[in-house]
Amino acid sequence: MKKLSVAQARLPESVDQEILLQGWIRTRRDSKGGFSFLELNDGSSLGNIQIVAPGTLPNYESDIKRLTAGCSVSVEGLVKASPGKGQATEVEARSVTVHGWADPDAFPIQKKGASFEFLRTVAHLRPRTNTFGAMARVRNCVCRSIHDFFQEEGFLYVHTPIITASDCEGAGAMFKVTTLNLRNPPLPEEGPDKPGWDVDFSKDFFQRPAYLTVSGQLEGETYACGLGKCYTFGPTFRAENSNTARHLAEFWMVEPEAAFFELIDNMDLAERFLKRIFRDVLARCPEDMEFFRERIDKTVIDTLEHVLESNFIRLPYTDAVEILKASGRQFEFPVEWGHDLQAEHERYLTEEHFKSPVILFDYPRAIKPFYMRLNDDGCTVRAMDVLVPKVGEIIGGSQREERLDVLEMRMKEQNLSPESYWWYLDLRRFGTVPHSGFGLGVERVLLFITGMANIRDVIPYPRTPGSAEF
Ligand code: ATP
Ligand code: MN
Repeated sequence: MKKLSVAQARLPESVDQEILLQGWIRTRRDSKGGFSFLELNDGSSLGNIQIVAPGTLPNYESDIKRLTAGCSVSVEGLVKASPGKGQATEVEARSVTVHGWADPDAFPIQKKGASFEFLRTVAHLRPRTNTFGAMARVRNCVCRSIHDFFQEEGFLYVHTPIITASDCEGAGAMFKVTTLNLRNPPLPEEGPDKPGWDVDFSKDFFQRPAYLTVSGQLEGETYACGLGKCYTFGPTFRAENSNTARHLAEFWMVEPEAAFFELIDNMDLAERFLKRIFRDVLARCPEDMEFFRERIDKTVIDTLEHVLESNFIRLPYTDAVEILKASGRQFEFPVEWGHDLQAEHERYLTEEHFKSPVILFDYPRAIKPFYMRLNDDGCTVRAMDVLVPKVGEIIGGSQREERLDVLEMRMKEQNLSPESYWWYLDLRRFGTVPHSGFGLGVERVLLFITGMANIRDVIPYPRTPGSAEF
């Protein structure tokens, strides 16, 4: 007997096959005719398959009539064309074996319409709901597209370290990695002898302060400046205490980096990349996307289709400031050249003014990291942020500063010591090239695609301030 997934068994071509299905009961309904309908789901698709369990089965009274949401079963039976609407097939059971019961008084997620806040408290069981099943499949589809896209474009997949000694942004709050006894840390005998060495890190595991990475960019650059086009894709950690619906302490970031690449090439790459992800999700996850459209946000499919047909707006930061000032809007944070744009400004540009994704570029040097290439005007750098409606920034990137003297000057300007970045500066000492890259936050893309409101609900186990239970 062949084992099929529920997704396979739902296809018309499965009719007349004797099959095995294994999964979890969603609902049971008993018919007056002395048989029962079971809705079975195994995660292979949003839709369930209907099992018709005849009353003649030997365990009908003892087992089948006790089945409730969450019970796990194996079903052997015959696939038939279904007379019901909205389903091509159903399965007439020859046997139903129960693997595990789920006490309906105790099983936390059987009620329809449980709030997302509540489901976060049972994050280990929420994969059994429609929303989190759909999310897991869409997330998988996005990750597959990420690799397909870069592999087809000739980018090399590089693993950059998760434990690092360098702080990529010079600003990002980082988690420390240590094996020191926090109750009794070794202290330097004559006070800290290096900045930040309030404890004696020479006694620590790495014999120096070490952190969880906030970005693989700097290491990515070292591979791009030798191998051409690379990308990293991995977990990223930020200890900033921002309790927003768009920030996680642990999130997944894709970071392409390419040699002989200027800002314009970087923008083209980012636009092609996002469109590829959106196109693949619409083509490969139609049922899940229809669910998000129906239950979460009526506009998600139209928005993705509209984005696929349009060109992203490309706008210098300075022009964006002009537009915002001329908007006549009362923003909570006033707009002024030289200040970082706030979410409300980004949303105005993408949702109201342009109604489209916007690539902002050429930002003031003072608000961007040291590694971004200084423009000839002396006051802006070759930064680019991709902004989308509702979510705001989903990509941040730049052309990198390839001139050694300018880079050193920028580091000093931002109070970073060139000595501790000696290996990064070597890229500019030996065969330097113009190069560019960006970082895309996978969870931000998922917010945009699915219309979900909170980033805690697009990753299996969200890490946020005060929350790491599961
Ligand atoms: P923001 O201004 O939104 O806090 P950022 O400018 O600090 O983001 P970058 O350092 O440019 O972010 O990181 C690149 C991308 O990583 C961002 O465009 C975003 O998609 C994603 N990202 C950054 N921080 C987070 C976070 N805390 N949680 C989830 N995704 C994030
Ligand atoms: Mn950014």
